[in-house]
Amino acid sequence: MKKLHLIILLVVLLSSCPLPASAKQADKESEAKHERMALYKKTAAATGLPWYYLAAIDQYEHNLPAASKSEAEKLIAITIPEEKWFGITEHKKAAANESTISWFQGLGRDGNGDSLADPDNPEDVLFTIASFIQRTGTTKNDIKIALWNYYERDLTVQTIMNTAKLYEQFGTIELDKRSFPLPLHHNYSYRNTWGDARGFGGRRIHEGTDIFANYGVPVYATTYGVVELKGWNLYGGWRIGLRDSNNIYHYYAHLNGFEKGVSVGNVVKPGDVIGYVGASGYGPPGTSGKFPPHLHYGMYKDNGRSEFSFDPYPYLRIWEQKSKQQKKEG
Ligand SMILES: [Zn+2]
Repeated sequence: MKKLHLIILLVVLLSSCPLPASAKQADKESEAKHERMALYKKTAAATGLPWYYLAAIDQYEHNLPAASKSEAEKLIAITIPEEKWFGITEHKKAAANESTISWFQGLGRDGNGDSLADPDNPEDVLFTIASFIQRTGTTKNDIKIALWNYYERDLTVQTIMNTAKLYEQFGTIELDKRSFPLPLHHNYSYRNTWGDARGFGGRRIHEGTDIFANYGVPVYATTYGVVELKGWNLYGGWRIGLRDSNNIYHYYAHLNGFEKGVSVGNVVKPGDVIGYVGASGYGPPGTSGKFPPHLHYGMYKDNGRSEFSFDPYPYLRIWEQKSKQQKKEG
């Protein structure tokens, strides 16, 4: 009996020991992702709409700036505006009967079987958005059209479709692994120059980090993502852009060339070679050698209305550290 008490005491002590904040946070996030996944799959089974579209829509909205803390903590982030949910009515906005809502041409549906369509209930929200999409159809193109009708924004539709592609291909929503953009065994150097003034092309700031390396050093995808853009640009030279599942655009410029077979719409994962370091740009297609070879790496976040550049330097440092660790651990 005494022994049992000791064990209980020990268990209580151990479980109340706080984990380092980051590990605890990661655990909480991973748990939330499992819960979210279960809801996507349940709604997919009920409606026939593949889970990865529901997951991609929800992920897109998770990455929009939250209006409030309570909104930020919601399991399902999809927020259907009241006038869309309830339709054209002056009635009090509260959980309501499906048939009343549809009388007023609202979208709100009951997904959890309590006969109320509640815009604050995650199952009702997922079921509602799935039902809305299915009204248009279930082919890829139908889904794209339904998303456009709902969001009325090209970049939003593209990001959701690309995220769905990632989720479908990898079979998971946990795509958090990242890689440093260059192989660690090559010589390279970089420092924080984000926001510095630029000479070429009028008044603009440096929207990225320059990583200096030799011509032809392979350039890696840093993230799971979909190739959104590839080609020549006056400033960037041969450049390529990836969109990840956090509504972040990763921009690689001044390349010598691209990896064979990499084209717009392709799915990549961290560590995939996508191009090679060069010194292209600052002129018409093919211009090269106007500055020392380097990779210009930029990151842009889409907030649902516009995209803005943010400093990639701290992320590069973290990815470099992690890549070094992984190499050590084999
Ligand atoms: Zn640069």
